[in-house]
Amino acid sequence: MQKNNKTIVNDIKTVLEFYQALGFERLPINIGRKNRGAKVQKFTASERKDSSTYKLPRYQTSEQKKAALKELREEIGDCQRCKLSKGRTNIVFGEGSEDAEIMFIGEGPGKEEDIQGRPFVGDAGQLLTKLIEKMGFKRNNVYIGNIVKCRPPFNRDPEEDEINACIVFIKKQIEIISPKVIISLGRVSAQTLIGSKIPISKLRGRFYEYCNIPLMPTFHPAYLLRNPKDKWLVWEDAQKVLEKLKKI
Ligand code: SF4
Repeated sequence: MQKNNKTIVNDIKTVLEFYQALGFERLPINIGRKNRGAKVQKFTASERKDSSTYKLPRYQTSEQKKAALKELREEIGDCQRCKLSKGRTNIVFGEGSEDAEIMFIGEGPGKEEDIQGRPFVGDAGQLLTKLIEKMGFKRNNVYIGNIVKCRPPFNRDPEEDEINACIVFIKKQIEIISPKVIISLGRVSAQTLIGSKIPISKLRGRFYEYCNIPLMPTFHPAYLLRNPKDKWLVWEDAQKVLEKLKKI
C-alpha cells in the first residue's frame, strides 16, 4: 500500500524526533546522495566545507600524499597550540601508508606512544595490530592516527579546548590520505568525528559518514584490555568494514 504525503511527513518527523531524543545535534544519516556526510564540529574557515560538494581529489598520487603529509608535519612543528604541549615528550603525528584504504583514529597518545613518538605501540597498540592483521592487512598497509597528537596527563581524555586546537591536523591527514573507510577507536574519536554526545556503546556497530567517507565507530583497544569479553563486538564491527570495502 502506498503511503500518502501526510504519512511520509509524519514518518520523517518521527525519525527526526528519535534522533533528537538520542542527543544528535545533526542528523547522522544520509538524506539522499547529495547531502551525504556527518559534519564535524569546529572547522576553521579553510576547513569548513559543505559535505555535498566536498571532494578529495587533490592528492591523487602517493608522491603528492607523501609530500602533503611531510608539509603538514612541518607545519605542526614544535606545536604549542594547546596545553598538552607542556607535558609531552614527543608529538605523535601518526603513521602508516599514505595510500591506506583504512584509517584508524584513536583519541590520543599514551605513555609508550609519547616516549616513542609513534601511535598505538603499547599494550593497546599490540591489540590493535592483532586486529589489523586479523582483518587481512599489515600494520603498514593502514594509517593510524589520533584526535590529539600529544599525550594527555595521566592518560585522561583530551579536553574540548585541546581537541579544538588539534583536530585540524587529523582532518588534514584524512583529507590527504582519503581512506575508503575510517574506523574510530573509542568514545572521544567517535563523538568528535560524528559530532554527537551519544555513548560509544550505542554509536558502535553501524556506519556514519565523515566527509563522504564511511566511518565505523568501535571500542578503543585499551577498553578491550579491561573488557576482553567485548572483543567479539569489535570483530563484528571489523567484519562490517571488510564487507563495506568489497563494495567500494
Ligand atoms: S595536542 Fe595538538 S594542538 Fe596540542 S600541542 Fe600537541 S600537536 Fe599542538
